[in-house]
Amino acid sequence: MNKPAPAQSAELVARLRATFRTGTTKSLAWRTGQLHRMRALLTEHGEELAAALHADLGKSATEAYRTEIDFVIREIDHTLEHLDGWLRPEKAPVPVFIGEASAWTQYDPLGVVLVIAPWNYPAQLLLAPVAGALAAGNAVVAKPSELAPATSAALARLVPQYLDTDAVAVVEGGVPETTALLEQRFDHILYTGNGTVGRIVMAAAARHLTPVTLELGGKSPAFVDRGTDLDTVAARLAAGKFLNAGQTCVAPDYVLTDRESARALEGALAKAVEKLYGPDVSGSPEYGRIVNERHFDRLTALLDSGRQVTGGAYDRDSKYIAPTVLAEVSPDAPVMQEEIFGPILPIVEVAGLDEAIDFINDREKPLALYAFTGSVTTRERLAAETSSGGLVFGLPLAHLTISDLPFGGVGESGMGSYHGRYSLETFSHRKAVLAKPLS
Ligand code: NAD
Repeated sequence: MNKPAPAQSAELVARLRATFRTGTTKSLAWRTGQLHRMRALLTEHGEELAAALHADLGKSATEAYRTEIDFVIREIDHTLEHLDGWLRPEKAPVPVFIGEASAWTQYDPLGVVLVIAPWNYPAQLLLAPVAGALAAGNAVVAKPSELAPATSAALARLVPQYLDTDAVAVVEGGVPETTALLEQRFDHILYTGNGTVGRIVMAAAARHLTPVTLELGGKSPAFVDRGTDLDTVAARLAAGKFLNAGQTCVAPDYVLTDRESARALEGALAKAVEKLYGPDVSGSPEYGRIVNERHFDRLTALLDSGRQVTGGAYDRDSKYIAPTVLAEVSPDAPVMQEEIFGPILPIVEVAGLDEAIDFINDREKPLALYAFTGSVTTRERLAAETSSGGLVFGLPLAHLTISDLPFGGVGESGMGSYHGRYSLETFSHRKAVLAKPLS
């Protein structure tokens, strides 16, 4: 008979902890070896993963490679290139009253890390944090999202074929399995998903004083300044918003702009959508589908929150919702109350920059703030007067692809960050060392 989930989880964590205690995972050779193995998994089974992502989210192969498979490969390559250098101890000056001595910091692995991933980029958001945790020399339990079942099953099958099974385990399942895992003591938990579950994760972690990284979401605004080239703005906004049918944590959630620009932007956005997906979006192989009926019903209820400029069509059987732009949307409209997380782009009119800044600051701190402006003063004011996980001028989503930038939120959009060397920081303890000679 199968053991209940909590007993299985306890046994699993004990086994991984025993491996960690042997010291195996700490050597640079083991770390880079695991990263090479993960890279091999992705290159040798890219098509299989792309097929799973298509089954779960209607993701095209182009999108699957660009935003998940190749994305993680790039992250791995960047880490492999720099890890040795990042791990070098950093000297600290010693004050004269201590006399002759040396001081430095070194990165210590934490132990056993838990990574909990969501369904929207189910491969990337599981494997990129796992790569970081392995680079930092930890053992890892990885929990894919049950709402992307094909990708979850593929990862559960492939990961043990490639990575060290004494140190890395994939646990599939939903709430009961995750709850059982959260009862165990981990040395760090990285959770990606929504704030409600983020609070559950943090409360569970608090029982063991386990540090957490919470990668959450929220409504990421896009400010469009007067006098910008609206065809370029529309093309970039549409590409960022409608990728993965809008189910991207850093998707521009809504547009803030003045009335005149709003009118011109409406037409430009309609044209941009057609350029991206052709006149019949439902027939475009490049356009994704909504993950499940619950989200489909939630989203279709938002479609009349404003005047439809383009889109509005939907089909429940195929979970298709057309890329939809809504104009003259009131801040009180249903679509403006919560993160949309779907292919609906509301345009909210403001008088100008001052009102836009107030609008942003009146709400929770977003994961990303986007702005299209040619004005240096506007850039400086947005940088100085607002707070967000990331601030991006001119190209939504692109900051995520830069491994040298930390990726994470602030306030309601999360805490902590990862990617590149920030993953090493997150999954290590920076130990202070002082050595004074005895004579
Ligand atoms: P989800 O429903 O797949 O949940 C995420 C994970 O939490 C899953 O592994 C799930 O099994 C687990 N979970 C769900 N309920 C739980 C519970 N009661 N106890 C313990 N674990 C539980 O994904 P989601 O939350 O719908 O994801 C969408 C949200 O994630 C959006 O808000 C989005 O903005 C955010 N997001 C953030 C990032 C980021 O990097 N900051 C990336 C993607 C998505």
